[in-house]
Amino acid sequence: MLDKIVIANRGEIALRILRACRELGIRTVAVHSSADRDLKHVRLADESVCIGPPPSMDSYLNIPAVVSAAEVTDAQAVHPGYGFLAENADFAERVEQSGFIFVGPRSETIRLMGDKVSAIAAMKAAGVPCVPGSDGPLGDDDEENLRISRAIGFPVIIKASGGGGGRGMRVVHSEAGLLNAISLTRAEAAAAFGNDQVYMEKYLQNPRHVEIQVLADEHGNAIHLGERDCSMQRRHQKVIEEAPAPGIDAETRRFIGERCAAACRDIGYRGAGTFEFLYEDGEFFFIEMNTRVQVEHPVTEMVTGIDLVVEQLRVAAGEPLRYRQEDIEVRGHAVECRINAEDPRSFLPSPGLISLYHSPGGPGIRVDSHIYTGYTVPPYYDSLIAKVIAWGEDRPSAVARMATALDELVIEGIKTNVPLHRDLMLDAGFQGGGTNIHYLEKLLKA
Ligand code: ADP
Repeated sequence: MLDKIVIANRGEIALRILRACRELGIRTVAVHSSADRDLKHVRLADESVCIGPPPSMDSYLNIPAVVSAAEVTDAQAVHPGYGFLAENADFAERVEQSGFIFVGPRSETIRLMGDKVSAIAAMKAAGVPCVPGSDGPLGDDDEENLRISRAIGFPVIIKASGGGGGRGMRVVHSEAGLLNAISLTRAEAAAAFGNDQVYMEKYLQNPRHVEIQVLADEHGNAIHLGERDCSMQRRHQKVIEEAPAPGIDAETRRFIGERCAAACRDIGYRGAGTFEFLYEDGEFFFIEMNTRVQVEHPVTEMVTGIDLVVEQLRVAAGEPLRYRQEDIEVRGHAVECRINAEDPRSFLPSPGLISLYHSPGGPGIRVDSHIYTGYTVPPYYDSLIAKVIAWGEDRPSAVARMATALDELVIEGIKTNVPLHRDLMLDAGFQGGGTNIHYLEKLLKA
């Protein structure tokens, strides 16, 4: 097993990684900005290194600073968490070249899957169903691009190959708007991502977001751990996630899950990963892969009983997977609410001092959070301050337990979206399950 690792992240995920390390007897190094000295995991870590001032660009995104911290503390590996440098292939490569283990896939894999055109090509070759589209980047031939759009059928969506975070996309409803949309998206993509490559896909009008969790080792083993439904979104940001996805039967799960596991073997994938799909009329359409642990990983842990971060660390240490596909069983239902420090109506961030915090508990309740009474949420970073996860024998029981947990949860001093989550647990549409990706935005508008 690994001896000492650098946790190159902050907040709840840094604490989550620290807990997994403790369980495995791995010593930890917390790297943090000067605004984050009071983070819970910084206080709990065996060692800590301040890597720069508050802005992420100068600290959590500062590659030389993170690598130096690994060097001076004589660590063996770096766990990037999610966000920040987690999907930065240059960072992974630097970590590898400096002689450390990157807890994640090889840098080539991150590069392959980070470019959406190359990711889609690799997935098609591996037999993963993709959205009907341009089969590669769009060229400069207007006639050809019009022909492609007619073949796909309107509406279509123009997407930047290097896009991310819900940016670099444009929906086009008819031929008249096509060429202009292509040049606008190209220009935006060049400015935002330094890569003007764009491609075209059919625009699915009422899909759900359903994703498959995978685990793979460097010995050629790969398994899937079922799916999550993350359709409750606002501005392409997930708000509530659950596992399993309502209405997906065991046969469908096996079909799509096995495709994903096979794709992992095809591309030599290593570690934990997620295949994101749009799901419409009973069909899956691959949109992208996340080559890291995800915010919503706990719902999968709750229904499978497998600790994904522990498995990431074991795989990074070179161990073969401890589970075969037939060992994976989905039991009961789990729901996760993302608790953000934000105004529940305007969604404006609400950093500041937490004057009182009480965490919920009881059967099936899990809280992943770094906050405590007296902690000050800094204004510089993502507003996620806690994840409340509820497990039950079935979906209604998980939702009922979540409602109770949210009633028990006390966070005073700052505004949070807890009131929104309380309302959503009582919403008939959400309770029915299987709502599409537009449901929450429509509800908020109404
Ligand atoms: P990003 O990397 O920016 O998150 P994705 O490719 O994952 O981009 O797409 C983000 C979101 O945009 C999806 O969850 C979905 O809501 C919407 N979207 C992307 N492609 C399509 C499509 N072909 N049809 C309908 N919606 C889409």
